[in-house]
Amino acid sequence: MTEKTKNLIDKLKESRSLHLSEYKELIEGYTRESASYAAAVALAEKKRIYGDSVFIRGLIEISNICKNDCNYCGIRKSNTNCSRYRLCEDEILDCCRHGYDLGFRTFVLQGGEDGYFTDAVLIPLIKNIKKEFPDCALTLSLGERSRESYSAMFEAGADRYLLRHETATREHYESLHPSSLSFENRMRCLKDLKEIGYQVGCGFMVGSPGQTAEHLARDLKFIEEFSPHMCGIGPFIPHKDTQYKNEKAGSVELSCYLLSLIRLIKPSVLLPATTALGTLQEDGRERGILSGANVVMPNLSPEDAKAKYTLYDNKLTKGAESAEALDELRRRLSAIGAEVVIARGDMASQ
Ligand code: SAM
Repeated sequence: MTEKTKNLIDKLKESRSLHLSEYKELIEGYTRESASYAAAVALAEKKRIYGDSVFIRGLIEISNICKNDCNYCGIRKSNTNCSRYRLCEDEILDCCRHGYDLGFRTFVLQGGEDGYFTDAVLIPLIKNIKKEFPDCALTLSLGERSRESYSAMFEAGADRYLLRHETATREHYESLHPSSLSFENRMRCLKDLKEIGYQVGCGFMVGSPGQTAEHLARDLKFIEEFSPHMCGIGPFIPHKDTQYKNEKAGSVELSCYLLSLIRLIKPSVLLPATTALGTLQEDGRERGILSGANVVMPNLSPEDAKAKYTLYDNKLTKGAESAEALDELRRRLSAIGAEVVIARGDMASQ
């Protein structure tokens, strides 16, 4: 690691902000040594705020039906090899019940942009979940919707919303998406969600096709300025039925380095060690936690749904559907000094 890179990591820890060119230098200054230095500083920051706690979120993949055609995504509309499913309200509530018994206090409803899930369907569902589990937080990750819809779901009781910005560079965004999706609308959604009062998560894939150090620097600057409550980043993994099938997967090491830098930009951010990390490397999630992540999102979806929610090839389908699987996760995290806690896990106020 050069002296310059070390100084930039220290500066980031002190000021929580860097110039775009400095973020770029930090990204270009990635080496095993700089990553391990950044991880040590980030882990100390995480411990200062959250101690050894790791929050768990019960992920429920409610539908893989999607009206969009994102170039990278295995559940894109035009993938005719994708076997489609949608959970009904009773199935979703059953997943929550099961998750609650296991110790989950946050449920994340994620899905493709499935036209079935109108406000008229979602609002009673949100109310029923919040009524049955008043001590739990409810996170939605259902893509782009109108401000009115976001407001109505927030009024119904939804607490958090995850919408990755995917890339903070317009041209890169346009290269990853069809022309029906716009960079402006993605940004509009994130702004609306924040103004409405949600705890908001943005994020991006590491190593998505065409991504450069400059793009990543803009992602970090965007995170600094937008100041999200949560940030979901993980490596891009190709899917066999997309135009990116022959592209290289993103790097676990670079993803972990970026997790550390994001922890330094915003020490209190809720930062998951994502499934994509765990998919590429057996101990990927542990490595994410050791780089400063403090959230894991085990999958509570029914077995059949899990197998069909194939965003990318070889997606981990081992979830937390059983007490044994959750015990195993507890053991693995405890082996690296982290403790799974039973809590809503809101962002700390500092
Ligand atoms: N439809 C919602 C949305 O657009 O936010 C939520 C579901 S979407 C499938 C969730 C996330 O999966 C995306 O934001 C994207 O970053 C990630 N994803 C999709 N395809 C991926 C791939 N091939 N590799 C890694 N992550 C991927």
